[in-house]
Amino acid sequence: SNTYEKDVVSNYMHKGNISGEAHPPRENATIVMLVRNMELEGALESMRSLEDHFNREYHYDFTFLNDVPFTEEFKRATTAMASGKTQYGLIPEEDWNRPDWIDEDKFARCMKKMVDEEVMYGDSTSYRNMCRFNSGYFFRQKLLDAYDYYLRIEPDVAYYCDFPYDPFKVLRQRKAKYGFVISMYEYENTIPTLWDAVEEFIATDASVHNDVNSYNFLTDKSLIGRLAPIVPSTSDYNLCHFWSNFEVGDLNFFRSDEYLRYFDHLDKKGGFHYERWGDAPVHSIGAALLLKREEIVHFDQISYYHPPFMTCPTAHDARLDQRCLCNMTDPFNIDVSPNSCLMRWWKNGSGKFFIREDRE
Ligand code: GDP
Ligand code: MN
Repeated sequence: SNTYEKDVVSNYMHKGNISGEAHPPRENATIVMLVRNMELEGALESMRSLEDHFNREYHYDFTFLNDVPFTEEFKRATTAMASGKTQYGLIPEEDWNRPDWIDEDKFARCMKKMVDEEVMYGDSTSYRNMCRFNSGYFFRQKLLDAYDYYLRIEPDVAYYCDFPYDPFKVLRQRKAKYGFVISMYEYENTIPTLWDAVEEFIATDASVHNDVNSYNFLTDKSLIGRLAPIVPSTSDYNLCHFWSNFEVGDLNFFRSDEYLRYFDHLDKKGGFHYERWGDAPVHSIGAALLLKREEIVHFDQISYYHPPFMTCPTAHDARLDQRCLCNMTDPFNIDVSPNSCLMRWWKNGSGKFFIREDRE
């Protein structure tokens, strides 16, 4: 049954956003958190950090999504923490649960194999639901219909520097559709057949234009002067992906026929459940294949921490200007780690975005 309507009715949008309060011009954007009730404390920490370093100036709305109803305690505390409006959505079961065309015997066998191989989260059915939801359904939630842009946030993350610009505005001004801060290698044992499915899609779908996209970021096949892969891959996919727990994006890209065809092609393979495909490689490969290079932005000046990795602006002056609290010698500073895929991003011909703010 679909209990979504009921929850929409009970949404509260209080804190009637402060519409009288001054804020810089805003984009049509919301901050999205998929989260469980038991993660309230971590959710508040993340919110506090984002508010202090960015949103207290802008008061963008927060949209919270959950596969079970949020508790009153969760709604009250997160609404109190937000400087803008808050809204709470219950995810329809058909957007979350394992589809009925998944072969349950095969699923049980595959899951056991992944557990035996100690694949990360290989034993979790809810993690698989979450990854498939983030890959193909978050942007279809009714509460997001009214928005063009989103920023994804998770519990227990932190930002170490003031944002030097509104990332939504940067996307709009540059006509970009996707922004990231960290990129790294995926665990191959979570996605044994993902690249096979992607190659099939590339071969059969006219929407992939290799001359203008970021195909070269994903594969070393055509790379002149190869970068030694840190994590050996058995396919032509070099395992590089944008870390999707932070992302700023244009919802209309995910809603596009091209992305929906891409998601559908992958989904039909069953790999979200028979394997443990993550939304990070799925979003990343989709964006890299379907967008033009310049439609993807590396936000070099946005700091971010999601355990265990952190990133900070590389320029010393930027760290001063943005009042950063960055430990640049942190062993988990991804930017100087062999786990980072940034060099490949640069080699793809894509620069980093480094400027205070474009003037209108
Ligand atoms: P990791 O970052 O890959 O280790 O995975 P997380 O545990 O951080 O999960 C990713 C995001 O999905 C976080 O925002 C979680 O709060 C959320 N999440 C994960 N599993 C569930 C779930 O079963 N229900 C809900 N509502 N959110 C989930
Ligand atoms: Mn996480």
